[in-house]
Amino acid sequence: MSFPPQPTSDHPIPIRAHHLLCAVCVRGGCDSPPCGLEALQPLLDAMWADPFQSLLLHADLDIALAHYRDAYTSRDPVALPEGFANRRADYVTRKKDLEVLRVLGLIPNSALPAFIAYRLLFSRQPTLQGICRSATGPSENWPECPHARAGYYERIAAEGEVGDLEVQTRLGEELAGRGLWAMVHPRNRADMAAAKQASARYIREQADRLFIRPAHLLCILCTADQQEPLIQDNLVELRQRMEADPDIPVTLTEGCCMVCDSCNVYDPARHLCYHGHIKAALRDLMVLELLDLPPGATLPAGELYQRIYDRIGSLKEVCGWRDGSSTAPFWGPCSYDRPVLEQAREMGLLTVRPTRENRGV
Ligand code: SF4
Ligand code: SF4
Repeated sequence: MSFPPQPTSDHPIPIRAHHLLCAVCVRGGCDSPPCGLEALQPLLDAMWADPFQSLLLHADLDIALAHYRDAYTSRDPVALPEGFANRRADYVTRKKDLEVLRVLGLIPNSALPAFIAYRLLFSRQPTLQGICRSATGPSENWPECPHARAGYYERIAAEGEVGDLEVQTRLGEELAGRGLWAMVHPRNRADMAAAKQASARYIREQADRLFIRPAHLLCILCTADQQEPLIQDNLVELRQRMEADPDIPVTLTEGCCMVCDSCNVYDPARHLCYHGHIKAALRDLMVLELLDLPPGATLPAGELYQRIYDRIGSLKEVCGWRDGSSTAPFWGPCSYDRPVLEQAREMGLLTVRPTRENRGV
């Protein structure tokens, strides 16, 4: 089967892996990175325009394929990799590329979205120590970049993601220039507030059919104690609407759904979640499989939740990937160890009109 173009991964920008760091230095105030501002500006512009811009991270591994006799005894100079002398002389920078890939847990020539790359980088490498700042101190053979100790990188990286989704949604454009949000743009606060107001009102007053991604059916249970609306999503509004009307049809839609309109990491233009586009896609399919339903299935809310209680034992089966494993940060489990599904099953939450008694209120 051939796949149609994927707008989120087509045309990755090829860069040397350490340029991820140099781009941070520039955002932190550096105006003369070794590769030149002109080389970095297209990268910075592309990431700012599209936080999910795919980046192809290069490191020169093939230089090590040169046989030592060709490299050092002139046995067969023609057998040497192209541009061998210059590539060998580039060892300080080659090491940086490999260090960055090691920190990210990737092999050379891996591609990943800028949003994920910087999330990982800032959580694991808050300083340039060991990469641009030599672990043993600069020397003639291992010089440092003149900006390695200027603090440009640290000024940005130290702030990381800047709070959770609630904080980010509250701050909106005030995030710009801080941590991850110096590399990719945040949403505008007024846009998010308007989206919240319109989408919540629609769910409460107008919708005669709900569209919910299967993974969010479980998130709705995780926030079952919450009575006040959340600024960053519509989980509470959807639960309350289904509580009030257990017969309302719910269509199981893959990808972002009625939950997402006001979220800082939701891109309304592309209907894309920077945070969950990858792992929530799998969770959607896992839930559908467990419920034995196809994408697009439509059921009354009460029937749908009864099916969940009958067929899914605990959150671990979905949110914990069945065995609690975390094969990579972008495949990390969500918190699955609270017995919220078990409690909801016991209370019959969303399956019948809950009373104060059976909700334990
Ligand atoms: S200190 Fe490192 S990351 Fe910063 S500009 Fe120099 S080489 Fe690039
Ligand atoms: S799926 Fe993504 S966009 Fe939707 S509420 Fe969750 S984090 Fe936000």
